[in-house]
Amino acid sequence: MKLSWTGFSKKSLQERLKFLQDYHLLNENNQANLEYNHTLPLSTADQMSENVIGTFALPYAFVPEVMVDGQVYQVPFVTEEPSVVAAASFAAKMIKRSGGFKTTIHNRQMIGQVALYHVPDIKNAINNIQEKKQKLLELANQAHPSIVKRGGGARHLHAEYLNGEAEFLIVYLTVDTQEAMGANILNTMLEALKTPLEELSGGKSLMAILSNYATEALVTATCEIDIRFLDRNKSEALDIAKKIVLASQFAKQDPYRASTHNKGIFNGIDAVVLATGNDWRAIEAGAHAYASRNGTYQGLTTWSIKEATQTLYGEITLPLPIATKGGSIGLNPTVQVSFDLLNQPTAKELASIIASIGLAQNFAALKALVSTGIQQGHMKLQAKSLALLAGAQDTEISPLVSQLISEKNFSLKRAQEILEDFRQKS
Ligand code: NDP
Repeated sequence: MKLSWTGFSKKSLQERLKFLQDYHLLNENNQANLEYNHTLPLSTADQMSENVIGTFALPYAFVPEVMVDGQVYQVPFVTEEPSVVAAASFAAKMIKRSGGFKTTIHNRQMIGQVALYHVPDIKNAINNIQEKKQKLLELANQAHPSIVKRGGGARHLHAEYLNGEAEFLIVYLTVDTQEAMGANILNTMLEALKTPLEELSGGKSLMAILSNYATEALVTATCEIDIRFLDRNKSEALDIAKKIVLASQFAKQDPYRASTHNKGIFNGIDAVVLATGNDWRAIEAGAHAYASRNGTYQGLTTWSIKEATQTLYGEITLPLPIATKGGSIGLNPTVQVSFDLLNQPTAKELASIIASIGLAQNFAALKALVSTGIQQGHMKLQAKSLALLAGAQDTEISPLVSQLISEKNFSLKRAQEILEDFRQKS
């Protein structure tokens, strides 16, 4: 049976689950997990955080046909925002037709810092630390031997003088954390270096902590979209491509736009980061710092037109220290469904998928913004949210949505009035 996703979004929830099972994309365990809502057990949740009194659910969806480096993935999305999944699916499908995403993992190491203050002789301290670099790296590795056994471990160390409102000597440690994000691995190593660094510098240690500005875990995703796919009308298609290029330039020049531009990118990135049990605060913090690396906050994507191939070329680069092990990843049963759907990717593969999703989401948003406007696509979903909020039952939702759209009135009050009216007439 050839796999075709046409009409998938129109199926009922039960039909979608059956479809996935028929095509062996979901095993029985995972199907039961999703169907009977076997989400995070309370006893596990109670171990994960403090003062736990329950769990909190969000919609779990996926974007089919995301082609990354020649592989096609069904990408799990956890998001409460209407139209995000639809937009990503639209973009991923068009980009697949144009050859898919290509990605580069520039490196996959984490950086941590020990901040020293009251250092009497900075030059002497830097020399001492430099001289003992190998010994310090060994000490770091001895503090977390299991990551060394797994092929990772401390790789580099250097010290930098910071002179601003206060004076600091900052020691940076770079660690290969393999499949883990590495916060606890780094923090353990850094704390083991505090006393030796105080002795070598003559200063005091203020703190020893991982940096979320993961510039040694940069990932680039690119795509080349055939301009003809942007519109049936050839000149309209070229016009849309040019406007997408302008939109990406706008987001480089204006932080007010850049913030919204990047929010759209994170609609997709956060959804996958959440679905795979990763720390979305860490990913957001690193990416926003990276977006400000030139001294002003800028859009994370760049779009240009390649005249020779008549393609729209998109590129995103951001820090993505994504994990497949550690943290809460092994604890949440639905996270396991995500890893099964993605066919058990490595941390690098998952980072490549996530960067690609960010680029897809940005393409969909920019295309809508420079052509039909964002509200057209959102209207139906907005009306649906209002219908649900107004208390519409299954059979009432569709007529209520149609009525709201035809009236172009998207207020909860109006949704409630129409619903009341329907009920009186029936
Ligand atoms: P863990 O503390 O869970 O450490 C990862 C563990 O995964 C390792 O200790 C290792 O166990 C195990 N593991 C199994 N297989 C592998 C493999 N192939 N490669 C690497 N590790 C493997 O997670 P992290 O150190 O990654 O820390 C992430 C957690 O820290 C997240 O929950 C995050 O929210 C939190 N955090 C984040 C901070 C930040 O971002 N600033 C600060 C503090 C915490 P073994 O020991 O057997 O090798």
